[in-house]
Amino acid sequence: MTIQWFPGHMTRARRQIQDKLKLIDVVIELLDARIPLSSRNPMIDEILQNKPRLVLLNKHDLADPEVTSQWVAYFAEQGLQALPVDAATGNQMKEIMARCKQLMADKIEKQLSKGVNPRAIRALIVGIPNVGKSTLINRLANRKIAATGDKPGVTKAQQWIKVGTEMELLDTPGILWPKFEDQQVGMRLAATGAIKEEILYPEEVALFAVRYLASHYGTSLQERFGIARLPEDPGDTDAIIEVMEAIGRKRGALLSGGRVDLEKASLTILRELRAGKMGRVSLESPSDIPDPASVTEER
Ligand code: GDP
Repeated sequence: MTIQWFPGHMTRARRQIQDKLKLIDVVIELLDARIPLSSRNPMIDEILQNKPRLVLLNKHDLADPEVTSQWVAYFAEQGLQALPVDAATGNQMKEIMARCKQLMADKIEKQLSKGVNPRAIRALIVGIPNVGKSTLINRLANRKIAATGDKPGVTKAQQWIKVGTEMELLDTPGILWPKFEDQQVGMRLAATGAIKEEILYPEEVALFAVRYLASHYGTSLQERFGIARLPEDPGDTDAIIEVMEAIGRKRGALLSGGRVDLEKASLTILRELRAGKMGRVSLESPSDIPDPASVTEER
């Protein structure tokens, strides 16, 4: 699903979530474990205010477990609990419920002390397109829920889905926009498949991916494509393009005359990366975050 985000859509998306916040106890913020910050809405703290929140690092099956641990520590420093999960396989679904309950522990305690039987915890899932919101709702519900989320600006009746006996989930997730202004963010979103690479040039997205792989996952890259030697300086664009050409030759992505079809090679690289063929790879780590002093304008 591709959504064209215009300022009006963003305002409406934000308002829809803020309306839903009144109905719920806990927000489940879904991020892509491979690119947690790049898959995050830039205004999320402002939108959610002080609602209790659980961060889920989804698609952990595709991410580098070591880097994911660094992210869990990163979020903990900001006072946010982050849990790595795989919505597709249903890994950690019980833990999600347990964590939501933990977040509500004080409130539940208070109700019990007043002799009130606590009602089910009400939760809302939010996240950017393609991060796995519908997959997670179906997993938690244990059945297929037809709705695949709000289109910005389209409203429909809300329904609560029972998750076990202690939790209820809104059937339509809150869809948020990513931070597109930053080119690196765009590259990461495209490399993981969160946005279609056709929006950008596949060659540029693959260049970004191969550069990142060469500097962080060199051995996996070499083994996957039988590359004898990687460039010493991953910043050397010509050298990275040579690696892409070598991959193209390996995969038979050739034009007539035997030159490498770089677009085809790029699409192959991205397809194999997204399918996890190069192993579990993260494309963003807390150490990639630029020094705040060097960032001119955050949005
Ligand atoms: P939504 O737009 O946020 O509702 O995202 P979807 O639920 O439609 O998921 C987008 C894509 O990600 C689908 O192809 C899912 O199968 C895939 N997906 C979701 N969760 C996982 C996961 O944990 N691991 C993997 N590998 N893929 C996932």
